[in-house]
Amino acid sequence: LEVVRAVEPRIADAIAQELTDQRESLKLIASENYASPAVLLAMGNWLSDKYAEGTIGRRFYAGCQNVDTVEAVAAEHATALFGAPHAYVQPHSGIDANLVAYWAILADRVEAPALAKVGKRNVNDMTDAEWAELRQAFGNQRMLGMSLDAGGHLTHGFRPNISGKMFDQRSYGVDPATGQIDYDGLRAAAAEFKPLVIVGGYSAYPRKVNFRIMREIADEVGATFMVDMAHFAGLVAGKVFTGDFDPVPHAHIVTTTTHKSLRGPRGGMVLCGPELADQVDRGCPMVLGGPLSHVMSAKAVALAEARRPEFQDYARRIVENSQALAAGLTSRGATVVSGGTDNHLVLIDVDKYGLTGRQAEQALLDSGIVTNRNSIPQDPNGAWYTSGIRVGTPALTTRGLGTGEMDVIAELMHTVLSQTSPAGSKAKYDLDPALAERVSKQATELLADFPL
Ligand code: PLP
Repeated sequence: LEVVRAVEPRIADAIAQELTDQRESLKLIASENYASPAVLLAMGNWLSDKYAEGTIGRRFYAGCQNVDTVEAVAAEHATALFGAPHAYVQPHSGIDANLVAYWAILADRVEAPALAKVGKRNVNDMTDAEWAELRQAFGNQRMLGMSLDAGGHLTHGFRPNISGKMFDQRSYGVDPATGQIDYDGLRAAAAEFKPLVIVGGYSAYPRKVNFRIMREIADEVGATFMVDMAHFAGLVAGKVFTGDFDPVPHAHIVTTTTHKSLRGPRGGMVLCGPELADQVDRGCPMVLGGPLSHVMSAKAVALAEARRPEFQDYARRIVENSQALAAGLTSRGATVVSGGTDNHLVLIDVDKYGLTGRQAEQALLDSGIVTNRNSIPQDPNGAWYTSGIRVGTPALTTRGLGTGEMDVIAELMHTVLSQTSPAGSKAKYDLDPALAERVSKQATELLADFPL
């Protein structure tokens, strides 16, 4: 850090403060984790300086022998870990991985002249009408993805994201009575809508997904079945999700981030069979620039870590912890969406505390508990204020906290939420600062036994 400080002290301070904050607050953001020192160090080195556009052994630059090694080792670990025939480890993020996958699917299934048309345009300057024209050139292809309020992600065909400009989208959701995916509704929507792509996967759905049934539905309507396992890749890697709940044997193509439950560096990855492999490997230069070689090397290290037996123990404990957290909250009177959890996350309906998600998120943050607000099914407060709080256990499980600590955290959260009251707008709230400080101190004390 002193080397950085000598150049720009404000950055050194921000880095040091980030470590302190992460050490001292309860990190319950479901999409975050603590990468190992090996992963972090594999990222901070001279591989960062190398250009390596292209793929292994076929680069547009000279001198890529070390990057070839890095990319090949990362892909080798990914294919072995997930049992996938092919892995493309270049995507810089989950959004990029999804974009690579969507282009590959379109290129595989749509006439080439439609794709060529894109190449002639500056997509940033395109108007809605031009996007409509482009979708028409693609043959108005359709995507069926999970609705945002049921836990889907923006990249699953929603308008603010490029996927919603490339495809006409329709959503499937959850059964209001159970909070779980309504597979009959999904089957009916697929039969009527006839999508080119059905997307499985989520950002905020607390249950297992039956990917075997989803593949059957995709086959019935001739759709390509893609699964975005960004959130639960660690549970697939750790063999908690197997059989019908492992997307890899059932989907035509699987995308993921590498930094959430998988505990690697920030980044993305695509897994697929030989039919789509050539198209996927064109991610660069189609939609990606030169690969981040240093990040690919950290992906290789993280994937090697995930192949160790102890990672399976870690994945099992993530779920044990989230179930303990859900039980601890429920027993104190909280409502959790779908009545519990099968995975790493719990979705709390904070309307039961008379709060919006925004008020609850901020009150918890004041108390040293870092979460994020999230829509819940049929959310009356929309995507900005929301009525939910999403919490996840991958990060605290990495630090070694167990089910006993989850019960203490449930108590702290319930205390804060039940003592917070709305104050005139959907963002404002009242919370006694002394209470927030006391909880924050308790959180730090709890974490002191689990050093980072
Ligand atoms: N896919 C899913 C399901 C996600 O939850 C996220 C991020 O939260 C992404 C994709 C995007 O990942 P990134 O932020 O790396 O682009």
